[in-house]
Amino acid sequence: YACRGGAPPCRRGDTDARTCPVTEDGLSGKIEKLAALIAGAGRIVVFTGAGVSTESGIPDFRSPGGIWSRFDPEEFTIYRFLASPETRLKQWRLLIESGLIADARPNGAHRAVAELERLGKLDCIITQNIDNLHQKAGSAPERVYELHGTMNHARCLGCGQRYAMADLLSRIRLEDGAPLCPECDGILKPDVIFFGEQLPAEALRQAVEHSRRCDLLIVVGSSLVVFPAAYMPVYAKEAGAAVAIVNLTVTDFDDRADLVIHGKAGEVMPLVLEAVKRILGVAGARGEPG
Ligand code: NAD
Repeated sequence: YACRGGAPPCRRGDTDARTCPVTEDGLSGKIEKLAALIAGAGRIVVFTGAGVSTESGIPDFRSPGGIWSRFDPEEFTIYRFLASPETRLKQWRLLIESGLIADARPNGAHRAVAELERLGKLDCIITQNIDNLHQKAGSAPERVYELHGTMNHARCLGCGQRYAMADLLSRIRLEDGAPLCPECDGILKPDVIFFGEQLPAEALRQAVEHSRRCDLLIVVGSSLVVFPAAYMPVYAKEAGAAVAIVNLTVTDFDDRADLVIHGKAGEVMPLVLEAVKRILGVAGARGEPG
């Protein structure tokens, strides 16, 4: 058995097809093709969803065992949040329980995307995630457009003051009520977009603009069913860019994409990065003189 899972030489070194999680006919060819697209592109946008973070231990929404199999989406509406201090406290506690603000670490996919930036191969990241893992992996915060906000901090709905989430969590665990702003007693809300809220206007404007003027958009770990975020590959395609998808399962956009890799982002993206480095002749790349 020759492992076809990795760009040659396979880094996993699996010798048994049954244990190699990235084996699939043509996978190494697809990895090479994505690497070639990246090497040849001038403006690259990486568009990420919850699937890029599942290997960091954060469940996505729609996979089996995902957040929607354990929580009712109705619990996360802005109307419910604002209804009363009791519903607010319940939502804070649900968010803590959901694992979304656990102390997760970036995985190989986040690190590969950050490395693409260091190679000069990234225009920006557009993410639906609220977990801050791209920034933790070393991506420049000013290149990360967070369409659904962030759990990294909370914001006062009265005076707009932001508070680090880490500081608030211990208060929420200890206190009986929903947290209030220490400055003005206003309502504190995680700085994420609840159902029923508008997306942050500036992040959305930038995301649309960057999607329209890129020449390659790579979707990593998104079901592409949440709009308007999922319009980004549509904007890119309509403007003439190539669109590649790295996702565990089929998406509705697969038929329109130039390249689809069904696999785990944390395994596929590091292999793509290695292949890019080899094509670019970056020192230290596998198969290249160091
Ligand atoms: P989604 O749950 O709808 O879809 C996730 C997709 O990722 C699925 O198609 C799944 O097959 C795929 N996937 C799962 N694990 C993967 C892996 N290891 N490698 C590659 N693909 C994998 O998530 P979405 O498309 O991001 O959209 C829904 C919403 O989820 C967004 O609004 C986002 O804000 C929210 N969300 C974010 C987080 C987070 O911040 N980490 C977690 C859960 C949900």
